[in-house]
Amino acid sequence: MTTRPPLDSPASDNRVPSRRPGRHQHKPLPELHLLEHLLQQGAPALRSRILTEVRDGERYLPVYALELGSASHTAPVLLLSGGVHGIERIGTQLLLAQLDTLLQRLNWDRSLQQLLQRVRIVMCPLLNPVGMAHGWRSNGNGIDLMRNAPIDAEQPSPWLVSGHRLGRWLPWYRGKQDQPMQTEAQAFCSLVEEQLAAAPFTLALDCHSGFGMRDRIWFPYSGRRQLLEHAAELHALLQLFEHSHPHHPYLFEPQHHHYRTHGDLWDYLYQRHYQRQQQVFLPLTLEMGSWLWVKKNLRQLTSYTGLFNPLVPHRHQRTLRRHQLLLDFLLRAVDAWQNWLPADDKRRLHQRSAERRWEIP
Ligand SMILES: [Zn+2]
Repeated sequence: MTTRPPLDSPASDNRVPSRRPGRHQHKPLPELHLLEHLLQQGAPALRSRILTEVRDGERYLPVYALELGSASHTAPVLLLSGGVHGIERIGTQLLLAQLDTLLQRLNWDRSLQQLLQRVRIVMCPLLNPVGMAHGWRSNGNGIDLMRNAPIDAEQPSPWLVSGHRLGRWLPWYRGKQDQPMQTEAQAFCSLVEEQLAAAPFTLALDCHSGFGMRDRIWFPYSGRRQLLEHAAELHALLQLFEHSHPHHPYLFEPQHHHYRTHGDLWDYLYQRHYQRQQQVFLPLTLEMGSWLWVKKNLRQLTSYTGLFNPLVPHRHQRTLRRHQLLLDFLLRAVDAWQNWLPADDKRRLHQRSAERRWEIP
């Protein structure tokens, strides 16, 4: 029996890292270690491939895609991603904890075994391994992967947070104009589009942290004051969740309620998908409210990692537990998508409710 690497040890590197070239050191990456351990443990039911490898000084770090469940191209898909921003380790840790739970339950849980004969879970839990190894938001080239898609915001917010082209020494750098997307972003978009090409229904959850006191579920658009074209379906899904779990902790909002950003990968993927085909694709972002962890432990203010991750062990464990209900709900909602997806009059009602709720004129 192999020893499981620690799942619940918060990151310990508290320094604001240097982004200067030539300063790469081979930093440990426990999340990658745990991911590879779970790959071994979960095979052959858990299928994996390396989407791309990214250079980190003298070494190359893999970006993995994992699949669990139905291999049929026409199965509905739950897509889970994390680690887009390397400093937000908790998103990756949450997905690895969920993967561990799924693998354990698959040994005995007949309802889960049957569900996964119909549904495919696709996971990319660590998209930016170089950023995570060094404790950076950006990737190894200093580029913010969530500002890197070739798409401009309408009425962008005036702050740097919207994304900028000033230079990689500042956070939220988009990269140079007319340059191809970064290797990690390209690999991720190919993975998502490969799934979208045939799946009759796709639901995505991308795990982030670092904004606000509450846990939020964000959805497109980020770059303009407009709801996604599947707003009716999205409203039906969120209402289903609220009715099924009335005491849930989340706020549901379009991201543009807070700030509008250039180069959002989900805006880009959603728009491309909608222009090509009509199958429903609902991309959600879980934005874990990290300011609450800071408020409860002000020492985290002195640590860059502490602004984005729970550092106290019991709060870290609570965070890993807290979102299990949501993840389980999403899996079941994907399986039963035909039971709740609204049509005709119901769809029009949900569309109006979505517009009223999120104040789109
Ligand atoms: Zn993030």
